[in-house]
Amino acid sequence: MFNLVKGTHDVILTEADKYSYIEQTLIQVAEFFNYKEFRTPIIEQSELFQRSVGDSSDIVRKEMYTFFDKGERSITLRPELTAGVIRSIVNNKLLALGDIPVKAYYVGPCFRYERPQQGRYRQFNQFGVECVGVVSPYRDVEVISLCYFALKVLGFENLKLVINCIGDEESRTNYKNVLRDYFGKHLDSMCADCKERYNLNVLRILDCKVPTDQEIVKNAPKIEDYLTDKSKENFEKVKKSLDELGIEYEIDTNLVRGLDYYSDVVFEFHYTSSKGLDYGALCGGGHYNKLVQEIGGPHEVEGCGFAIGIERIASVMSDDNLFNEIDESIDCYVMPLDVTYQGKAIEIATALRLNGFKTDVNLEGKGLKGMLKKALKLSSKYALILGEDEIKTNTIVVKDLTNETQESVNLAEIISYLDRKEDECSCGCDHHHHHHNDEE
Ligand code: ATP
Ligand code: MG
Repeated sequence: MFNLVKGTHDVILTEADKYSYIEQTLIQVAEFFNYKEFRTPIIEQSELFQRSVGDSSDIVRKEMYTFFDKGERSITLRPELTAGVIRSIVNNKLLALGDIPVKAYYVGPCFRYERPQQGRYRQFNQFGVECVGVVSPYRDVEVISLCYFALKVLGFENLKLVINCIGDEESRTNYKNVLRDYFGKHLDSMCADCKERYNLNVLRILDCKVPTDQEIVKNAPKIEDYLTDKSKENFEKVKKSLDELGIEYEIDTNLVRGLDYYSDVVFEFHYTSSKGLDYGALCGGGHYNKLVQEIGGPHEVEGCGFAIGIERIASVMSDDNLFNEIDESIDCYVMPLDVTYQGKAIEIATALRLNGFKTDVNLEGKGLKGMLKKALKLSSKYALILGEDEIKTNTIVVKDLTNETQESVNLAEIISYLDRKEDECSCGCDHHHHHHNDEE
């Protein structure tokens, strides 16, 4: 027996259906905003993440799966997808002036060596978008509204958009100096992580979750007092536009996000369930104005994006009953009553499938009673029984498992018989009639 690698999990059966549903819904919304899919490699050069996510981030400092391949190249399993997508956009020269913005969406696994906890894994999945070639603050609004719209379509109510403006590099350099002065006076009483953050990236201290440190953070100087006029103006436009779109938000001047590449607008969507449970951030994102350049693209190209954690969405939706029933029923279950009829049974099952009936077949030879039990367990609408008489007369018994009636049907007419029954179906049920007929 083998165990799962720590921090990984299987996504199987109905859970996998839920993941597909979430991903498909997010993809549809992104397509609706005219985004195109990007599938980039899971492995990238380690330096890509050092340059983009940043040496001072928790991710690069302690969470990356990095190894040397047999050619002694340093390779990293991607901890997020933004860097790879931007690299791909740059490598494929998609940033010609007439082609911007490039609107990309992605979905796939990420790897971070974190302490596994409820809803926190070492391999997890993200969906996200990047809009690259942003020249208007309303693009940021568009990206935020895509995220909002996607979460609404999934059924989330009472979302809280938390937003901040962290300015450009110049503003942050000034602000960091002031922060260093301020936190320098309190550092002795702060946590070990903050002492490290103080030297690596003092902004990170604002994100500290230790309660006594939060008290100190509360009274720290605020970024808004160090923003350039352009940043301030941008942020005002974004806020006004969000007001007009009816997207409620809360400004959190301590929201800095864990990745180094952000500048100006950063945001998260937080969720509190109907039962009052606070799930924190479902996703996060923001604007970046130096990332494309860091990765080797044109220096003036700015972008904006966000990433949603699929695991987190799935667990919140399960807890909060946001999933609709997933229909796992089948239409037909073919039951050969003797192993020598199995070949014929497969033939019939194939014809049914080709005609749009979701079909399974018993090849385990359990006897009539056992097979019927299995048909019910699979929530089949019909049991198709193939016994000695049926083989002799080229017929099959169709048992309607909804109303317990049965009829003998000539095999040549089985499809038209079932089509007719489906058309007549007046049970008022929500049954999917899995036809692929011309009229549908
Ligand atoms: P957190 O504050 O939860 O650590 P983060 O700031 O590290 O999140 P991002 O890097 O912005 O998150 O990733 C976006 C989303 O990906 C998060 O909001 C979360 O839903 C999800 N996510 C991040 N790390 C994990 C993980 N280890 N396991 C599962 N989902 C994750
Ligand atoms: Mg994290």
